[in-house]
Amino acid sequence: MSHHVERAPGFVYSRVGKNIQRLSCERVSLLELARRFGTPLYVYSAQAIRERVQAFTQAFSDVEHLICYSVKANSNLGILRLLSDLGCGFDVVSGGEIERVRRLGQPACRKVVFSGVGKTVPEIEAALEADILMFNVESASELSVLARCAAKLKRRARIALRVNPDVSAATHPYISTGLQKHKFGVPLGEARKLYTRAAQSKYLQVAGVSLHIGSQITDYAPFAAAMEIAAELVRQLNRDGHRIRYIDCGGGLGIDYRHGQASHGQSISGYAEAIIGPLADLPLRLLLEPGRSIVGPAGVLLTHVLYRKINGEKKFVVVDAAMNDLIRPSLYQAEHQIVPVSISDCQPEIVDIVGPICESGDYFARDRSVPAVKEGELLAILDAGAYGMSLASNYNSRPRPAEVLVDRGRVRLIRKRETISDLLALERVGLKPT
Ligand SMILES: *Cc1c(COP(=O)(O)O)cnc(C)c1O
Repeated sequence: MSHHVERAPGFVYSRVGKNIQRLSCERVSLLELARRFGTPLYVYSAQAIRERVQAFTQAFSDVEHLICYSVKANSNLGILRLLSDLGCGFDVVSGGEIERVRRLGQPACRKVVFSGVGKTVPEIEAALEADILMFNVESASELSVLARCAAKLKRRARIALRVNPDVSAATHPYISTGLQKHKFGVPLGEARKLYTRAAQSKYLQVAGVSLHIGSQITDYAPFAAAMEIAAELVRQLNRDGHRIRYIDCGGGLGIDYRHGQASHGQSISGYAEAIIGPLADLPLRLLLEPGRSIVGPAGVLLTHVLYRKINGEKKFVVVDAAMNDLIRPSLYQAEHQIVPVSISDCQPEIVDIVGPICESGDYFARDRSVPAVKEGELLAILDAGAYGMSLASNYNSRPRPAEVLVDRGRVRLIRKRETISDLLALERVGLKPT
């Protein structure tokens, strides 16, 4: 088995017969999980997540830091509990995400940073009540609203301004966030003035500087460039009389969807060097907000082949998962590796792998060479742990998949499969007046 279709330590093949190899998750058979829980099914490896957190901890061991896992990458409570037990805090972007962390208990809330350009008053109040670590404020207006909410609740909010460093990162345009033309952060030139204003409110405590330049960035140079700019701002703010204790470096480290994580430890240490270098002479506590690089390779989406069909020149493999379950190929033209769970000696063929949804954008792979698979066979879509289930929808009235977390051979259903009744529960036909 060539290593690029495996995702150790979570997902590896083992030989089960003379010419047959099967993919398992921490030695639990994926065929068995699909039989037990049905498909489409998300399966996550706890060991893979742990290993990733340890790689970050190790790469940043020379500096004071806190990993604030970005909840939107995968917000399942079972995953958040695991990360909290590993000592992680959280980066949240909505009231719903704050509530998820609240369910983990008060100590988890104190390690929360709250980002987002459109925080509402109820969300801000919920964050103040939860006594979170820091608000990453994204505009002058938000700063005023936060000061008013904090005064009303008689609580002091620790704040950072999210600055827009105007750094370009080579990634998909939808997930690039660090340019002046993007909606995020405040322009660098306005930051000092806003910090001065914040320092005048007795309900705001200036605590940090934050930035986040985008997602799925695999080149370290933009990170280093952004940190140079942030470091310069921190020096300036300290000269202005503020006491900047935290630098929130954002998330965004990409993963290798094509070849897997063979080189991942290396990539985290390269990233750490890019981040730490520019901050070397500053006594700061680093906040890191990785999402994808923690959970991405730790999950697969299992799906059964429903039909094979040929339309003229093209061969299609129709599977029971669709863009509502995993939208990354349709939305970002992402290319996930797709592998049969059982491999014997079969010839590769060129196919499109598509879902049942009524639009042509519903595909997982186009003109892709994959081992020939039969109807009824089980496929695994790799690296689906981040922005998979968290972006899933009910389009075409399809219930969302179940999620399973495997931890050292123990299998936990961390989200039941939705039912059609769940989908309809909030709707009314509306013929009778209510
Ligand atoms: C989405 C997001 C992250 C996480 O990005 P990844 O690419 O998943 O690491 C971190 N911080 C903020 C503010 C975000 O919006």
